[in-house]
Amino acid sequence: MNHTINRIVIVGGGTAGWLSAGIIAAEHRITADSTGHSFDLTIVESPDIPTIGVGEGTWPSMRSTLQKMGISETDFFRECSASFKQGTLFKGWRNGGDETYCHPFSAPHGYTEVNLAPHWQPSRDQIGFADAVSPQSALFADRQAPKQISTPEYAFNVNYGYHLDAGKFAEFLRKHCVEKLGVTHIKANVTGINSAENGDIAAIETDSHGAIEGDLFIDCSGQRALLIGDHFDIPLQSKHNILFNNTALAAQVAYDSDSDAIESCTLSTAQSAGWIWDIGLPTRRGIGHVYSSDHNTEERASDELLSYIAKTVSKNAAASATMRKVHFSPGHRAKFWHKNCVAIGMSAGFIEPLEASALVLVELSASMIAEQLPANRDVMDLVAKRFNDKFLYRWDRIIEFLKLHYILSQRQDSEYWRDNRDAASIPDNLRDLVELWRHQSPWHRDTNSADEMFPSASFQYVLYGMDFETQPSTTQRRSDVIAQA
Ligand SMILES: Cc1cc2nc3c(=O)[nH]c(=O)nc-3n(C[C@H](O)[C@H](O)[C@H](O)COP(=O)(O)OP(=O)(O)OC[C@H]3O[C@@H](n4cnc5c(N)ncnc54)[C@H](O)[C@@H]3O)c2cc1C
Repeated sequence: MNHTINRIVIVGGGTAGWLSAGIIAAEHRITADSTGHSFDLTIVESPDIPTIGVGEGTWPSMRSTLQKMGISETDFFRECSASFKQGTLFKGWRNGGDETYCHPFSAPHGYTEVNLAPHWQPSRDQIGFADAVSPQSALFADRQAPKQISTPEYAFNVNYGYHLDAGKFAEFLRKHCVEKLGVTHIKANVTGINSAENGDIAAIETDSHGAIEGDLFIDCSGQRALLIGDHFDIPLQSKHNILFNNTALAAQVAYDSDSDAIESCTLSTAQSAGWIWDIGLPTRRGIGHVYSSDHNTEERASDELLSYIAKTVSKNAAASATMRKVHFSPGHRAKFWHKNCVAIGMSAGFIEPLEASALVLVELSASMIAEQLPANRDVMDLVAKRFNDKFLYRWDRIIEFLKLHYILSQRQDSEYWRDNRDAASIPDNLRDLVELWRHQSPWHRDTNSADEMFPSASFQYVLYGMDFETQPSTTQRRSDVIAQA
């Protein structure tokens, strides 16, 4: 059964399905049989089951993803109601008051050569870390853009990603994939799976298009996880013991007036048992509350969300807001690629969107498939193992980074914040790193992989934004003298 891999079938037409299709089709030209070699990419999407419809903050990686797919950034901005995202501004995470800090996308000045954190330490009472090492926090505060109107598409003065309308984005990607990249789109419900002798998926059965055969199946069916979960029974490994949030209330809120400024960063405001995201699009704001149902009731979470909307938008906006409840089980699959099936997006797993890490995982997963597309069935198991090892590592690092935001908090106002600092809920590797950082600032050497999702710069922004103290060095380093000169 060592056949070549030239028919890919994606199940699911949410952001994960269309991004995966676009990334793979941008790398592998879809060709007809007349050339003697064919490659075909089909998306099967239910006409009845809606997409999750949230997921409105991206990483800067989305710029090169869209560019590689041949998308005009101007068209993207227009059609997806997109705005700039330069990072996240955290409010109330330290003490529950009005205090703020930011995690900008631009690394500290000179980041590849010098670690500025020890040089900032003596001035920490006068200036915050991000303000001292990057111009981007000032742009956040002034709601300025990361580039000028004359800056070419995708180029930047300071690094940026996007805020976007998730519904419009999936539709925009669909149109581009079908019209420009040759992806086949089938609207049908998947009703069953036909197995091959070796246990692979031979075909998916649909209600209106019969059986659809493929060599590689990508499960982008969202939380349903039709292929990786229902069919192959690959378990979801819960991370609820580390990251407690498992419910979101999402609202879309109109601006109070046309002259309201659009924030150029995501606002993340800590609450009694969770946090509220606030994303500014040109057309509306997306505001939602992510919380732990073990620590909060829906009623209280809803009250906190409405009071935030009343305070930051208007009382009228709060009175007319409608909310959608989304439940999720924080965690990820024990493996993502099994036999000839790989899960991407919500079917692979999900943890709270504190650092918007879901879409970037979709981009990275689809890029690895596109770059390392197995030539034939025999080599697929090797690629699958490498894929699983890489993404299990990435999930662990994301979980540790998100947990860092909680364990540094000094909030005492609820069980939620106290439980988050309980040693039993903190991964060992994170505990060790935090202990290390009491004596030396985070730096490139702390990580094992060259393509870490969160570089040491991100750890520095969060640690020092949260008032973490690293003891000054007891020796004077030669590099310090050079840096001060
Ligand atoms: C509250 C919340 C906030 C989030 N915020 C962010 C954020 O800021 N940044 C970020 O990166 N991510 C965020 N995410 C995650 C992000 O929303 C998802 O990763 C992204 O939308 C991808 O979803 P998906 O395509 O995997 O699933 P879905 O959007 O659920 O799509 C599933 C698809 O499968 C199809 N399907 C299901 N069953 C069948 C069937 N039987 N037959 C055929 N088709 C079927 C459906 O029709 C649909 O097209 C957030 C998630 C939540 C819950």
